[in-house]
Amino acid sequence: MSLDRQPVLGILGGGQLARMLALAAAPLGVNTLVVDSSADACAGQVAPLLVADWTDYAALQRFAEKVDVVTFDFENVPAETAHWLAERVAVFPAPRALAVAQDRLAEKTLFHECGLHTPAFVAVATREELEQAIAEVGVPAILKTRRLGYDGKGQFRLGQAADAEAAWAALGTQAAVHGLILEAFVPFERELSVLAVRGRDGDFRTWPLTGNWHTDGVLAMSLAPAPDSESLHQRATGHARALAERLDYVGVFALELFVKGDELLGNEMAPRVHNSGHWTIEGARTSQFENHVRAVLGLPLGDTGARGLSAMLNWIGDLPAASAVLAAVDAHWHDYGKASRPGRKVGHATLCASDAVVLHERLATLAAALGRTQQAQPVLAALKG
Ligand code: AMP
Repeated sequence: MSLDRQPVLGILGGGQLARMLALAAAPLGVNTLVVDSSADACAGQVAPLLVADWTDYAALQRFAEKVDVVTFDFENVPAETAHWLAERVAVFPAPRALAVAQDRLAEKTLFHECGLHTPAFVAVATREELEQAIAEVGVPAILKTRRLGYDGKGQFRLGQAADAEAAWAALGTQAAVHGLILEAFVPFERELSVLAVRGRDGDFRTWPLTGNWHTDGVLAMSLAPAPDSESLHQRATGHARALAERLDYVGVFALELFVKGDELLGNEMAPRVHNSGHWTIEGARTSQFENHVRAVLGLPLGDTGARGLSAMLNWIGDLPAASAVLAAVDAHWHDYGKASRPGRKVGHATLCASDAVVLHERLATLAAALGRTQQAQPVLAALKG
């Protein structure tokens, strides 16, 4: 596709990822049209919004007629909807890639097929199978829903075998609906993600590895490039490339990894732009959002190199006062325009610097001003090395 005439990118889902995709598309002369079932979807503040649910085929027909390419802000768009649209308009990533990433069992099976190890896992459909799975995988372990789990939701941690009863009480009803998987709990040293992009012509690139810190299963902070990750970069990139080629993937995706000793274990793959890549807006030569737009439209990809070091702090539940971030050097405030709600991602800030010493100093000062020194502690420690 060329940019001679302004193409229209359709985005399924109208959250902050769609919002940041639309903001990245605009300077390229790419228009966007977002579909969401909620008239309040925050992407609607910056892009035209079509309010429809995933089974409103009359609305989806109008949508398909108006757009050149369709992509996703949300990976849990029903597979039927994605397939239906793919019969009418180009959809990237392809519905098949989406389907694999929607199911933790299919995803981990694919990881193995591509040579990426994972925590031990067993599918669980009944209470008896949970007992067998515990015997096989051991404890501690995590019971997760196969589908529709995100940000630590749909998960139950088992410290001992006797926790099976409580785990089943929490998630047993989901067994028939979404299926369950029991995974060994990995005492990892750190979590990394590989952000990768693959173009329609097969051009494949990764950004420097990102280090991630979660609180209650929700991403709290990221640091990129992750310190001491150069030696892992090639292996991690190799795994991401193998997955992308196997799925004939087009667009940006994130591969989340646990690092344990010199082992890399695959946790999950997000078939879309990802929270751990938000730092790329200011911290990389081309952001994940811009490269995703370029990839799905078949345009040349941009340079994925980092400009220096970046730390990203997520705002979860509510926003702190913006003034401390706005007053800090090379700090970038992002308000998603969403109402406050416990556990909800409502914004983030990215702090950039040319080296680790300066970033440490800036982050320590900003975190203190925001009263968030505890949230920043692991990143400050990582920067100290
Ligand atoms: P998930 O929704 O599977 O990405 O899980 C959210 C977070 O929970 C991960 O980023 C990890 O911090 C933690 N987690 C998930 N699975 C495991 C595991 N098998 N072992 C240890 N921690 C885990």
